[in-house]
Amino acid sequence: MPYCLYLRKSRADIDAEANGEMETLARHEKILLDLAKRMHLDVTEIYREVVSGETISSRPVVQHLLTEVENEMWDGVLVVEIERLARGDTIDQGIVSRAFKFSNTKIITPLKTYDPNNEYDEEYFEFGLFMSRREYKTIRRRLTQGRMSSAKEGKHTGSKAPYGYDRIHVESGKGYTLSPNEKETPIVKMIFDWFVNGQLQEDGSYRKLGAHAIAHRLTNLSIDSPTGNPTWNPRSVYWILHNPVYTGKIRWGYKKDKKIIVDGAVKRTRIIPPEEEQILVEGLHPAIISDEIFNQAQELFLRRGNPSVVIEKELKNPLAGVVVCGICGRPLRYRSNANRRDFGVECRTYGCPCKGSYIYIVEKRIIDALRDWVNEYKLSWDDMPREMHSLLIVKEQAYNAAIKELNTLTKQLDKTHDLLEQGIYDTETFLIRSKSLSEKIAESEKNIAKLSADINNEKLRENNRKNLIPKVENLIDIYWQLPNASAKNDMLKEVLEKVEYTKLHTVGRSKTKKLDDFDLVLYPKLPRT
Ligand SMILES: [Zn+2]
Repeated sequence: MPYCLYLRKSRADIDAEANGEMETLARHEKILLDLAKRMHLDVTEIYREVVSGETISSRPVVQHLLTEVENEMWDGVLVVEIERLARGDTIDQGIVSRAFKFSNTKIITPLKTYDPNNEYDEEYFEFGLFMSRREYKTIRRRLTQGRMSSAKEGKHTGSKAPYGYDRIHVESGKGYTLSPNEKETPIVKMIFDWFVNGQLQEDGSYRKLGAHAIAHRLTNLSIDSPTGNPTWNPRSVYWILHNPVYTGKIRWGYKKDKKIIVDGAVKRTRIIPPEEEQILVEGLHPAIISDEIFNQAQELFLRRGNPSVVIEKELKNPLAGVVVCGICGRPLRYRSNANRRDFGVECRTYGCPCKGSYIYIVEKRIIDALRDWVNEYKLSWDDMPREMHSLLIVKEQAYNAAIKELNTLTKQLDKTHDLLEQGIYDTETFLIRSKSLSEKIAESEKNIAKLSADINNEKLRENNRKNLIPKVENLIDIYWQLPNASAKNDMLKEVLEKVEYTKLHTVGRSKTKKLDDFDLVLYPKLPRT
């Protein structure tokens, strides 16, 4: 979770400025941004307030901020001094300290960090003054337990709705549930679609967008972010794509991520609590994303690697995730041997008769096979007349015909009304006629929807076919010049779904010629139907 700045100009500041002092908010902003930089905090929002009033009720920006703090939207809030948040009376101080404590939000000032997680941070508790530590713990526990049992009933327990939904009261009893927000729901769907299916490019291909690219596009489209900011944070996109709430579920006890500092840089690490501490139940609210799309997104995350993984191990095996055993189907494992310079892959399934090989030999065979395949594929492709390339044209013709038919049916329906008005039809005839037409219209609409989906699929397939050839050719050209295993691996994964490898005979050392006595089955990434 990110951090924000809260800047407030007081009456005293305004007087000081009149006496020639530098603009207060700009000065404070600089101090706090410097501090954030030193502490490696990701600041994603700056709140500014210029009002003479000291009480919370006269300061709309701080009210907004406190709501966000209560909703656990911030790791911490940076202020030049604690008094900027609450001066006023003890009630105001109480409001502020409760909001920060119960949400475990830090207050960070240039002099000190107030951390409610830190039991020994006495000052944090002094700041509230009127509440003892025991009282705090009891209330915190009760709140947690109450929210947990609500979650188990499928209710929404947060004080704010996730992006895409509005928070509404449940129909009977206590608590809240979610209702799709008309404006935001299509954005959520779009985010998932861009991530899972990709976005149509100018050259007609579909490109899958990652969280960063999606955030960038949404910002460019001037769509307000979940925080109301004009700029979208990639992490918001990331969490939207991970949140099962969109499939109608309620999740509780799931920690998002925790930041640790390694070599002066902030690294994130994902902490997933043991399953018994997590709750995932059917929510009372409707889904806006299908399970299928959601699961595809999660799979993509797994395949692309989790962006919050802290340590990036250097990949040594260019075939990782590409080559599987042709007998047992499990991935071949990397084998290093200190005495030899050539590394190998092998099947480690217990009892599987498949034998290992040197990596460079498998690589060479794959590249050769790809070369043969692409040449042949290209030939067959070039020989095909345009009409045969796909069913696209046929489908498009059918689609146009179906639209025409629908128009005719709609006109006929209008006509029955006229005929009724003119007294040519009696009511009964009218009803029979219009019922039959309405059935035909429904049928026709269904047909159009199906054809339209077919056409889209067909376009996607055609584009994939067109794009695969240059990809494979490029791979063949540059593969051996690639600097490391990871670059090779990326390229192989671009064009290959998988490669099955089968080797049943071990080869003696002397018979080097037979080292490549194994079978390979290549599965190029052809469009799925
Ligand atoms: Zn095996």
